[in-house]
This record gives sequence, C-alpha cells and structure tokens, in this order.
Amino acid sequence: MAGIEDYKDVWVFAEQRGGELSKAALQLLGKGRELADTLGQKLCAVLLGEDVDGLAQELIYHGADCVYAGDNPKLKNFQTDTYTYVISNLIQEYKPNIMLYGATHIGRDLAPRIAQRVWVGLTADCTGLDIDPETQNLLQTRPAFGGNLMATIKTPNHRPVMSTVRPGVMKAMDPDRTRQGEVIKINGEIPPEVIVSRIIEIVKEAKHAVNLEDAEIIVSGGRGVGSPEGFQIVQELADALNGVMGASRATVDLGWIAQDHQVGQTGKTVQPKLYIACGISGAIQHRAGMQNSDYIIAINKDPDAPIFGIAHFGVIGDLHEIVPLLTQELLKLKGSA
Ligand code: FAD
Repeated sequence: MAGIEDYKDVWVFAEQRGGELSKAALQLLGKGRELADTLGQKLCAVLLGEDVDGLAQELIYHGADCVYAGDNPKLKNFQTDTYTYVISNLIQEYKPNIMLYGATHIGRDLAPRIAQRVWVGLTADCTGLDIDPETQNLLQTRPAFGGNLMATIKTPNHRPVMSTVRPGVMKAMDPDRTRQGEVIKINGEIPPEVIVSRIIEIVKEAKHAVNLEDAEIIVSGGRGVGSPEGFQIVQELADALNGVMGASRATVDLGWIAQDHQVGQTGKTVQPKLYIACGISGAIQHRAGMQNSDYIIAINKDPDAPIFGIAHFGVIGDLHEIVPLLTQELLKLKGSA
C-alpha cells in the first residue's frame, strides 16, 4: 500500500469553458508555483477538454512544469461524472501530494466528488495556502464561524491534500512565453456506464450586470455616501473611468444597494488595477476582499480611518465634494482627448 512519502507534486485543476482557461486556474498556478518551489516538487496542471494543445502551452507559460491533458470530445464540456472518473483515476495512478481547485461553480461540484472517490478530505473555500516549514504539510486557511475567525487546517495523515480556493485571492504569474514544460497525454477514455447525465443544450447566462471580479477599475461606496442616492456620484465616477461600482457590506445591510455590489469577505474578492474607496472605513472584512488591488485610493473625512493604512493615495475630505470634482475633471480630460 502507498505511504504518504509516495505522493509527490502540486496539482492544479485547469478549469476551461468553451476552450478558454478560467482566471481561477491561472491564479492557482501562481500560488501552486510558490508551493511547489518551497517543497522542491513539480507543479502540474490537469486539463480536460477537446483540442486542448494550445491551452496546455498556456498553462506552461503560466508556471506549470507539466500538464496532464485529457483530449476527448466527451470531455469538451464539464460534466461531473466524466471529469470525476478521469481525474480520480489519474490521482490513483500518479499520486499527487496536493490538488487544488478554484472554488468556482465547477470546482465546488467536482472537488467533493473526487474527494469521496479517492477517500480523502477537502478544505473548501480557502483564502490562504502555505507550507509548514517543519512538517512540509499544506496549511489551508479559510474563514470559519461565519467569518469571525480564520482557521488554518492541516491534513497530516492523508494524501492528496485537497482544497478549493476562492477566485481572486491568489495572483496569476505574468506569462513567460519562453517557459518549457511537458505535456503528458492521458487516457481520456470513458466507459459508457460512467456517463449517467447528458448535455442537451448549453444556455449562456445573461451577462452578469455587476462583474466586479473581472473589473480593472472599481469605485466603491461605503456608509459615508449617506443614503441610497449618495451612490449616484460614486456610479458617475465609476462610469467616467469605465469602471464598475462596488460597495461595503454596511451599505448592503442598510438596503442602499444590491448585494451583488458587495466587496469583502462575505462579498466578492477583487483584484483591479485601481480601487477607489469612497467613505469606507476599511474594516478587516472589507480589506480582505480588495487589499490585493494594484492601486488603492481612499477618500474619507476621517484622517485616522484604517483604509488609509493600505491606501497608496489618500484624500482627506468630504466625498460629496471630492467625488463630483474628480468626475468633472475626468470628463473634461476625455472631452479634450
Ligand atoms: P463605516 O465603518 O461606518 O465607515 C464609514 C466611513 O465613511 C467612516 O470611515 C467615515 O469617516 C467615512 N465618512 C462618513 N461620511 C463621509 C463623508 N461625507 N466623506 C468622506 N468620508 C465619510 N464589510 C464589507 O465591506 N464586506 C464584507 O464582505 C464584510 N463581511 C463581513 C463579515 C462578517 C462576519 C462581519 C462580522 C462583518 C463583515 N463586514 C463586511 C462588515 C465590516 O465589519 C464593516 O462593518 C463594514 O465594512 C463597514 O462599512 P463602511 O466602511 O461602509 O462603514
């Protein structure tokens, strides 16, 4: 029987839809690279689909040393039965040490099925991953008790250690198009009795009105906007910057704005190039969702507001004066361009 020492390498499930890799998969490769280097092991991606050669290369450019590629028309679209079957067999054959999935709709469906099939546990919705320097165990951090504390979970006795990881928390590597890696074609054959469901039609959901996760610029409003109407100037600034409007939970709880705008621990985790926080104090639960933004600008009338502790630029003053002035100046610039 295999012992823990027989399990090697860090694996990432490379989710693709319609031939496009998910951002979550590329972010996991970024983190996986760090973990694999710390352990002195390889970083491998597991890619299932049809005609996936181009995607396999892309995964190597984003940090993978090797890609297990299952190429089969039956794997073109995600199906729990087929993907579980192929990946469980792969895990049993190659014995990875760590296996990571994005906590996306697909990852949340697939990972528990595989965990059950290969008889290991699963830590869901992690927001931090590290290696314990003494034991080399994976340290899996996730919010617990409704987000009131962060728990770090170790899995010392079973392999692979499996986690789903919140999209938007980890950073993807910049692609290096000179990176070389190995593509291992796997047996993607699926016996007919495995396929218990059939895709009849794929209906694309209407585009999400508030796509904060992919936004490059976000302008968020907090309790400082003062009322539901106070969000109008925040929206105008977001529009002038071709950005998306976010919000703090306090304003969602007050019913000033819809929940799909909420940024933070119990809202969305975002990583824009620019995040402008207007009238947001910067509570830890808000920061958890936006502190990885490239540039943070805070507008707040309280010079001691914690948001200034993580802001790259701060404006102390009344947002009702500052925000419209900024919008006006931007529109002037646009007009003269
Ligand atoms: P406040 O903390 O009230 O801050 C308002 C700020 O506006 C103040 O700093 C004030 O100085 C400033 N201000 C007021 N008037 C003006 C003005 N005219 N001009 C300029 N500045 C002004 N919060 C989140 O945001 N996202 C989450 O996902 C989230 N999850 C949570 C999960 C749990 C389990 C818990 C317990 C809490 C969570 N919270 C979350 C809530 C969080 O703790 C804070 O209560 C919340 O972020 C505060 O929102 P705020 O900054 O808008 O309001």
